[in-house]
Amino acid sequence: MTTKLYLDGAWTDAGAGGTRDVISPHDQRVIATVAEGDADDATTAVLAARRAFDTGPWRTTTAKARGEVVRAIGDLVVEHLDEFARRETLDTGKPLADSVTDMHDIASVFHYYAGVADAHGGRVVDAPSPDVVSRVQREPVGVCTQISPWNYPLLQASWKLAPALAAGNTVVVKPSEQTPLTTLYLVELIDEHLDLPPGVVNLVLGAGAAVGQPLTSHPAVDLVSFTGGVATGRRIMAEAAATVKKIALELGGKNPNIVFADVDLDVAADHALTAVFLHAGQVCSAGARLLVQDEVHDALVQRIVDRLPEITLGDGFVDGVRSGPLISAEHRDKVESYVAIGLEEGANLAAGGSRPDDPALADGFYYLPTVFTDCTSKMRIVQEEVFGPVLTVERFRDEEQAVALANDTIYGLAAAVWTDDVSRAQRVANALRCGTVWINDFHPYFPQAEWGGYKQSGFGRELGVAGFEEYTETKHVYQNLRPGSAGWL
Ligand code: NAP
Repeated sequence: MTTKLYLDGAWTDAGAGGTRDVISPHDQRVIATVAEGDADDATTAVLAARRAFDTGPWRTTTAKARGEVVRAIGDLVVEHLDEFARRETLDTGKPLADSVTDMHDIASVFHYYAGVADAHGGRVVDAPSPDVVSRVQREPVGVCTQISPWNYPLLQASWKLAPALAAGNTVVVKPSEQTPLTTLYLVELIDEHLDLPPGVVNLVLGAGAAVGQPLTSHPAVDLVSFTGGVATGRRIMAEAAATVKKIALELGGKNPNIVFADVDLDVAADHALTAVFLHAGQVCSAGARLLVQDEVHDALVQRIVDRLPEITLGDGFVDGVRSGPLISAEHRDKVESYVAIGLEEGANLAAGGSRPDDPALADGFYYLPTVFTDCTSKMRIVQEEVFGPVLTVERFRDEEQAVALANDTIYGLAAAVWTDDVSRAQRVANALRCGTVWINDFHPYFPQAEWGGYKQSGFGRELGVAGFEEYTETKHVYQNLRPGSAGWL
């Protein structure tokens, strides 16, 4: 297994010789020891990407050729899918079947952007004179740094890498220090199988606090794309401001899942469970905030609580396990502190609220699926992103109140509405201030449709054509076919 930094087309140890043990969240064993870079390594990566962009052939290759490279990366993911999935489960603890699903989604992202690469070159503009040729063309932005989180390590990286390469940029990729294995593997396969010029793809490993500053503030960086928490996003925005970089921020969420009384409650309960407890709630778009119409509140909560024992916790490599651990001891501490806050605020603990007592899970960072009822939108447990297996339940009277409660948040990433009334579904979808609304479903996403946040869930879009355009500049080129007097003097 390659465990080094990839700078300017070569595998290298960290300049200062640093290493880091990567820990399994299932049992805390060391699963790999990888290079741990610092700010100097990050600067080397940025300068390599700069050289590759300014003087290398990559940005002037044809869009078709770049598309072929991006397609080949998707093919590599498919060919090595089992190993990718194995590493993702090792790193994150999620069930292997979920990692396999992620890998199929990742391959689709590369295959989608392979087709987008030569389909959005620009357009000819209807100029104000017949003696003028005017076109608007799309060009790569330049050096892009791409910082991704630990919950969907390679998936989040692919949403950035595929469009950036398709558009002709050079990149510095930085996965979370906690989950570097699949990103390392992808870069290893790119290095082995594709003939990319040195410096087009660089990989920096290291803690965000140590390598972050050059990646977000170095004058040679043109664009920063970041997926992670709001606090880090704010810091990155400030760092990038000094040199007015383009930035895209995919931040957190506290996503409402609104259930009206007219739906099939068994189906709504089934999806409510997946919405919040998938990947132990460590999903930016998790439906952690359930809003239920008064008439069916008790019946829906009962169905949810009754089915919690079906969420088998355990080793992601064991068949039948539905949920793995939290990513780290620190993160579990955070989740536990939020449960304590919920209790102090007067929310009613309807289920969970502790670590599992199964001795087989004692070495891992496990936490039981937890449900709070009697919640109000003023509570911190409702307003703040816990990013763990914790569901809060609120009641609403009617459509107007449901929308008001759902929008009463600093976030705006995703939401769902459950109703058999088609007109009401559309009204509510239009009224919700967030980047994705699911009607009678939860969680589906695909590469063709844009993803991103309103309000403090961030700005910029990933996926879809907009996810490609993030990585392009538009240039207007105007030519006068009959130059003569300017007509001013
Ligand atoms: P995080 O602590 O903000 O870290 C995200 C990434 O930023 C990691 O690679 C981290 O590196 C790096 N980082 C930390 N400090 C940095 C700094 N000063 N400068 C540059 N980079 C820095 O977030 P997380 O806890 O990993 O991820 C969970 C958050 O991501 C949640 O809030 C979740 O909602 C959000 N998320 C959003 C989306 C979306 O699509 N909107 C998708 C997934 C996750 P190290 O970990 O190596 O220190």
